[in-house]
Amino acid sequence: GGPAFGWSFWKNCIDSYRNTSPHDGYHILAKWSKMIEDKYSSISLEKLNEEEDEPPKEVFFVYTSNIDGHFTRVPTFQDRVVECHGSTLFLQCQNDYGVDCTQGNKTWALPQDGLSNLTVDPKTHLVSGKFPLCPGTCNMVARPDVLMFGDFKWVGQRTSNQEDKFYHWKDGVDRLASGKYIVTRKEDEEQKGEDEKNKKKEAVPFRPTAYFPEDSDEEDVDTDITKGVVVEIGAGTTIPTVRHQAERFCEMTGATLIRINVHDSHPPYADTGSFWKKKTEIETQYECLSLPLGALEALSVLDWLIEKEREGLVIDDEETEKIEKEEGAEK
Ligand SMILES: [Zn+2]
Repeated sequence: GGPAFGWSFWKNCIDSYRNTSPHDGYHILAKWSKMIEDKYSSISLEKLNEEEDEPPKEVFFVYTSNIDGHFTRVPTFQDRVVECHGSTLFLQCQNDYGVDCTQGNKTWALPQDGLSNLTVDPKTHLVSGKFPLCPGTCNMVARPDVLMFGDFKWVGQRTSNQEDKFYHWKDGVDRLASGKYIVTRKEDEEQKGEDEKNKKKEAVPFRPTAYFPEDSDEEDVDTDITKGVVVEIGAGTTIPTVRHQAERFCEMTGATLIRINVHDSHPPYADTGSFWKKKTEIETQYECLSLPLGALEALSVLDWLIEKEREGLVIDDEETEKIEKEEGAEK
């Protein structure tokens, strides 16, 4: 044990996270977020019931189990992320048993040069030098603010702050999804004459078509605006925290699930409660698009499709076939 052992691992890990820039997938997600934000600002929401809470201000949120802090390095996501296992860009007190420290329940940012005075012995791979210290009364070597396996000393203060914000937002999306607001397109509002303004407005829930009121004309409703999406990227099945979040969100809001996973992109299953965890495929209340691809590959393909649609191009089978052939030839 000892700090040298732990920090030998962490220094290597954190150095490599810091020396890698967030890949293009992050920027694709940031671009999409901006697009959704623009759409959202093109509609106005009016409370059906005066006592209802306000609609959510934000239209996207990131929930990640990654500890590399890459999402917080992309300005778009900086304040809209839950790092459910913490972040290696932050430190906390060791919280050694029996030691009462003033920083015991706090986390703080790891300075950019925080590990520069640690050197790795090429033979033993152990580090020595100036370890980052807890600024509290314990003055012991600090540790990363990351949830480790069977870890009871994790502070997770940042994470719980992030979660508070996330759950608050999720409640707002739930209200949107259950049709608590009247949705109108701003451009329509401007075009409306006085007579139109006096007409009874119709509630349009933030839901897939199945939930639209019977007498509403579905074709009049911009489904791009009214339908949410969850992009689940490479979420594991061993500790399925992220998967559960994604599935529950879709169940709650009727959003479409895009499941990107090279090995395990199957649609959600229901647990039958059996000891052997035998699972049965169930029909979900939401759509699931299963993409057995790597993160960057899947995001690039989806982005390409979105761009094509924005350009007004119709993708026909012939064109798809042609592209597939070209890509096949490249490989
Ligand atoms: Zn301390």
